[in-house]
Amino acid sequence: MPDTNKVRKVSIIKNTEKPIQNYRFISQTIFMLITIWIGIEYAIFIFRLEGNALEVYRPSGVESFLPISALMSTVYYLRTGIIHAIHPAGFMIFAGIVAMSFYVGKSFCSWVCPVGFISELVGDFGEKIFKKKISMPKFLDIPLRTLKYLLLLFFASSIIPMSAIELRFFLDSDYNIAADIKMFEFFRSLSQFSFIVLMSLLVLSVLFKNFWCRYLCPYGALLGFIGLFSIHKISRNTETCIDCSLCDKACPSKIPVSKRKLVISDECTSCVQCIDVCPVKDTLEFRTLPAKTYSNKLVVLITAVIIFTLILSAGIISGKWNNSVSTAKYKELYENRNSLGH
Ligand code: SF4
Ligand code: SF4
Repeated sequence: MPDTNKVRKVSIIKNTEKPIQNYRFISQTIFMLITIWIGIEYAIFIFRLEGNALEVYRPSGVESFLPISALMSTVYYLRTGIIHAIHPAGFMIFAGIVAMSFYVGKSFCSWVCPVGFISELVGDFGEKIFKKKISMPKFLDIPLRTLKYLLLLFFASSIIPMSAIELRFFLDSDYNIAADIKMFEFFRSLSQFSFIVLMSLLVLSVLFKNFWCRYLCPYGALLGFIGLFSIHKISRNTETCIDCSLCDKACPSKIPVSKRKLVISDECTSCVQCIDVCPVKDTLEFRTLPAKTYSNKLVVLITAVIIFTLILSAGIISGKWNNSVSTAKYKELYENRNSLGH
């Protein structure tokens, strides 16, 4: 039951700060358009390879879809201090995402990631159709949430013990150089089984908002773990909170914000929908640790996106973005794509 004394008190200190979901939508849309642009350029790259063009241009941004290679490059960098030359853009994008997560949780998921954006839009569509939010039963929700950690554990336990020589052997391999070509081929010649899996994921995402992100994305698992150590956390002022639970209802990650003093959760994506709906001034805010100062939500999130963009720009300016694989090598790999890795 809401505390009536508190309710009286808040009618004086109503939250007049504007919601920032429009800014989030703009950020997601911009990164989605960039991704579509990269996809178009990549398709042209493949068509030119097929057409035996003299020179081909491969957009390096496609390496954002090679997270395993990026993780291996990162471990290689930590071992040797060298950014491996085959997928440098993948390494820089990964570094940008990690930096963003240390700054403010899984903000990449709800402010940048195109897969997270699609997942959210599909979930919104489902809520419109069914006119309510459908939740996974609790007895399934918790075990399903561990799936993404098991996937992360599988990749991490395979990659982290590898020596620098083993890592370099893989990173230099034709299989790694052609990883994006193989990914393109996977989607272009989708098998019946893969099609059924993708369609099942789509249906599940309509039914359960953010199904992929919440249960299966190993990237999200890693960022959620890093986010536990991020310097910005959402803090609730228990003195002014009127226990209206609006924050709990707004949270797409089903975090009981109204029961927390500080939101420390691997599922929090820093979407700030909870702060946006809170009716009381200065009750839900970003707290900057360890200084324990409070920061404006829009400033925090825009800074996170700027950090990500700056790291990518640093990669482009310093020449750690495009690889030096020749057109002739790409043609050779493209011709032999079906035998790579066998
Ligand atoms: S609504 Fe609040 S607690 Fe829930 S995911 Fe978004 S920022 Fe985190
Ligand atoms: S923190 Fe949550 S429960 Fe408390 S006033 Fe704000 S929206 Fe209501």
